[in-house]
Amino acid sequence: MTPIVFLHSLAPQDQQRWLTRLKQLLPNESILLIDEISELQAQQVEIAIVANPDPEQLAKFSNLVWIHSLWAGVEALVDSFNSLESAQAGQLQQVKLVRLIDPQLAQTMAEAALTWVLYLYRNIPEYAAQQRERIWRALPYEPIATIRVSVLGAGELGRAACRVLSAQGFKVNCWSRSEKNIPGVTHFSGLQQLPSMLQQTDILLCLLPLTPDTQHLLNKQTLLNLPAGAKLINFARGAIVELDSLIELLDVGHLNYAVLDVFEREPLPAASNLWQHPKIAVLPHISATTNLQSAAKVVAENIERYRRTAAIPEAVDLTRGY
Ligand code: NAP
Repeated sequence: MTPIVFLHSLAPQDQQRWLTRLKQLLPNESILLIDEISELQAQQVEIAIVANPDPEQLAKFSNLVWIHSLWAGVEALVDSFNSLESAQAGQLQQVKLVRLIDPQLAQTMAEAALTWVLYLYRNIPEYAAQQRERIWRALPYEPIATIRVSVLGAGELGRAACRVLSAQGFKVNCWSRSEKNIPGVTHFSGLQQLPSMLQQTDILLCLLPLTPDTQHLLNKQTLLNLPAGAKLINFARGAIVELDSLIELLDVGHLNYAVLDVFEREPLPAASNLWQHPKIAVLPHISATTNLQSAAKVVAENIERYRRTAAIPEAVDLTRGY
């Protein structure tokens, strides 16, 4: 069997954990790091397993057939393909890019969605602020069935979030590019229907991929469609939200609160004014972290299937960006 290359920019202990697990699950495969591969072997490599790889290194494998990412979000990789000089980029664009689709990841994101939607619904930020001021005051309670939660994105993660939120009793809306039928959820599609969904939203949860179409999609104009007092959760990618507009709308009171797990620059710099903002919760990109055990199993199963049947899992559409 042709060797598999593992290209990454992981810390040494993470490299070891992934390699050990992948080798346990794929005992008949030879999984090698770039400096363990001879020139001759490099010509034979069909599969690369990657985690934030250097695209220049990837381009050295001229007979690559497909790349399996250990992460679900691959926009950095898609971008880096485009940043290569044209010959290298052209070569990589022929290679299929497969991202991680792991039910465990969707479950983890659905738990995060439920946790933080309940946090906002039950006014925990306001009660925490009241406690700091020694204020004893009950805020009005609204039944859960009256609270409209809108999920941007109806992919692996968006659909899992919709299911748990709807099962919990929220009134759930969902938005994606194409039409969908998700039981118990009101669906909206395309840019034309976005304002209408936003107008019917108390809590907005972003689970979109970052693409040229979604970059700064949540800007002043779109966010102003939300009713006064609405709250935002961004668990997708920082650059989807135009931060200056978000802060302005929080400061003037149009928006009530934002939970941000993702930022254009990560780690969020210590000097950022977001850390201290009274209406923002900052999380360190933890809403759905990859589980090594389940993710390695998904990767191993995909590789085994390819060896048996030559079938490559559904690949990312590089022109669409996700
Ligand atoms: P996915 O399965 O590819 O689903 C993407 C969804 O977004 C699809 O429903 C798609 O619509 C919709 N979409 C994309 N572009 C759109 C546009 N321009 N207008 C309207 N809808 C659009 O992705 P996923 O696995 O659910 O993951 C979503 C994102 O979550 C990832 O890309 C990643 O950035 C982020 N993520 C974050 C964490 C974290 O810990 N914070 C962890 C994992 C992933 P269609 O269905 O019509 O194609």
